Amino acid sequence: MGNQNQPIYILPESTTRTLGRDAQRNNIMAAKLVAETVRTTLGPKGMDKMIVDSLGDITVTNDGVTILNEMQIEHPTARMLVEVAKTQEEQVGDGTTTAVIIAGELLKNAERLLDQEIHPTMIVKGYRQAAEEAQKTLNAIAEPLTKKDTELLKNIVITAMTGKGAESSKEKLAELIVKAVTDVAEGNTVDASDIKIEKKVGGGIIDSELIQGLVLDKEKVHSAMPNQVRNAKILLLDSAIEVKNTEIDAKIQITDPSQLAGFVEQEEKILKDMADKIVKSGANVVFCQKGIDDVAQYYLSKAGVYAARRVKKSDMEMLARATGASIVTKLTELINKELGFAGLVEEVKYGDEDLTFIRECKNPKAVTLLIRGGTQHVVDEVERAVKDAVGDLIASLSVGKVVAGAGSPEMEVAKELRKYATTLSGREQLAVQAFADAMEIVPRTLAENAGLDPIDMLTELKAEHDKGNKWAGLDVFKGKVMDAWKAGVIEPLKIKTQAVKSASEVAELILRIDDVIAGGSKGGGMPPGMPGMGGMPPGY
Ligand code: ADP
Ligand code: MG
Repeated sequence: MGNQNQPIYILPESTTRTLGRDAQRNNIMAAKLVAETVRTTLGPKGMDKMIVDSLGDITVTNDGVTILNEMQIEHPTARMLVEVAKTQEEQVGDGTTTAVIIAGELLKNAERLLDQEIHPTMIVKGYRQAAEEAQKTLNAIAEPLTKKDTELLKNIVITAMTGKGAESSKEKLAELIVKAVTDVAEGNTVDASDIKIEKKVGGGIIDSELIQGLVLDKEKVHSAMPNQVRNAKILLLDSAIEVKNTEIDAKIQITDPSQLAGFVEQEEKILKDMADKIVKSGANVVFCQKGIDDVAQYYLSKAGVYAARRVKKSDMEMLARATGASIVTKLTELINKELGFAGLVEEVKYGDEDLTFIRECKNPKAVTLLIRGGTQHVVDEVERAVKDAVGDLIASLSVGKVVAGAGSPEMEVAKELRKYATTLSGREQLAVQAFADAMEIVPRTLAENAGLDPIDMLTELKAEHDKGNKWAGLDVFKGKVMDAWKAGVIEPLKIKTQAVKSASEVAELILRIDDVIAGGSKGGGMPPGMPGMGGMPPGY
């Protein structure tokens, strides 16, 4: 037997270790700080944040996930909350702030229970039951929606954009976005990648447009080509219009000048044949993924064909879906069946850039939203708002259900959870009640951000919900309770179900941790002083 007083080390000396309540407290603190950071941006009256990176580049945004991404948070637990925002962004594309603040509040309320000596596993159990119950309530109160409910769809877009940079032109943008999404929808499913979002600085947001087709960052290859082609018959070619082997065969021995002339002549003939084949197929527009030789350019322009070269593969694929063309690999196998159609192909000057617009495609399966705005910061923020709105429409259509917003569903869930809690025994009951309280963080924050008294507002909201008005929400502009459904504040059900799901999951995960072991051996993966707030930027 060894010396009983000899301490035993099982971890390297550089390891720091935080145990039990200290670990929990630190983790909860980190999560709460993340939630606090984004809280002031929630809702139409939420404020924006300006984030300056190490290079001095500025982002001005109201978007939860953008803020958290740009902040480069390092604290491991805080990063788990950032993951919640990312999951929300991937799954729905909107509701990131909501998800994060619910998670923060769940943990804050859990701390209260920990202080009352309620064991974490008990809290986790109660939270899990509450989360399930919340999902049931959300599904029960949701209303059906189809592609034909144009007004509802527009309201979803307007709700997503209220209070964002896109606010001023939201009616116009709503029309464009609804049209874009319903155009490319196949039944109720929409592939977000079929909607290309193109940004151009200049003009105002109101000048944004929906192109039933595509915008390419490409100019025509030859100045003698037409600027516009009406009733375009479009060839998509993924091989070069060049005589390929010139580079490889560059070592041909030429002994007298006539040989060279012959060689050049022969090459020119091949290129002319290629151009002829294209013209004969009936194509008057060519998009080529590779290069187009000068000689071929010349012959194409003489025939009045519009051509652009080195078009990106992803754009070629979108062009195929927009125009109905198939991508052709070999010119020798070209038959006009593969050609696509667009009402108009034109070159347009934007600032000092020449772009190619492919417009008026029939039943395009890929479209482009061209976003305009006075400055880069404006178009960037409008783009984020548009992406949120597109995500919301896709989520609404795919699930086929929507809810009203303005805090109404969260109030309804809280109410139902409190009812449910009464059916449970002591400690679980407390946990379910704590979950119910946490849901109210959404209307409370909406009230606070609008400069309203949260206690008054919540009391009024509760009274309305008790009367059975499930869509009673907060009119943040007038400072009173409203019927959020009638007011047209509409959101996809999925924003809410996903937010509750990921918020409760991360809360459970963090609550289960009672031992944080931060090692130095892997090259200092954890920030020094872990689990303090070493990774948070100063000022937060
Ligand atoms: P998130 O990142 O969670 O989407 P937002 O800043 O977009 O955060 O705010 C969303 C919240 O604002 C939702 O609770 C939504 O119901 C609410 N909201 C949106 N439009 C209105 C409105 N016109 N009146 C009241 N609340 C609104
Ligand atoms: Mg939003």
